Amino acid sequence: MDIHSGGCGCGSVRFTLSAPPILRTLCHCSICQAFNDAPYADITLIARRHVTVNDLTLIDFQAYRPPPNVQRGRCRRCGQPAIEQLHLPGPMALTIIPSRNFDDAEALPPPRMHGFYDSRVADIADRLPKYHGYWGSQLGAMRHLLGALIRPSR
Ligand SMILES: [Zn+2]
Ligand SMILES: [Zn+2]
Repeated sequence: MDIHSGGCGCGSVRFTLSAPPILRTLCHCSICQAFNDAPYADITLIARRHVTVNDLTLIDFQAYRPPPNVQRGRCRRCGQPAIEQLHLPGPMALTIIPSRNFDDAEALPPPRMHGFYDSRVADIADRLPKYHGYWGSQLGAMRHLLGALIRPSR
C-alpha cells in the first residue's frame, strides 16, 4: 500500500512510499543550501527499501562531498532536486526526499529538528532542537531516527 507519493517539478520522476517516513528534518548545511537553492532544506528521510522510483535513469546523481556518501539526484529534464540516496549498509540505507516534492506535504510528519544550525542564513524562531556542526547534527539525527524506530510514527 502506498502511503505517500510525489515527484520532481516536471513530473518525470515519480516515487511512492510504502511505509511512513522516519524523520523530517530541516538542514542548514551549505551543501543543502546550494543543492536546494534555499536558506535550508526541508527534507524527509525514509528507509530506501520502502521507496519505489519509477525510473532511476531519469535522475542525475552527484556526490558533493564524501563522507557520508550522499548521492544528490536532480531530474535530468527539469534540473530540480528529485531524491538523494544516503548509502549505509543494508537495511539502514536511506532515501532523502525534499519535502516539497511530496504531492501532499501536509500529510507528512512535522519537522523534528534543525541540523547544521551553525551554518544557518537566518535564525529560526521555533522550539525544535537545533544541532550544530557535523557530529552534533549526526548525533541529533541518530537520536531522532532511533526514537522514530522504536515509537510508532504518526
Ligand atoms: Zn523533473
Ligand atoms: Zn544538509
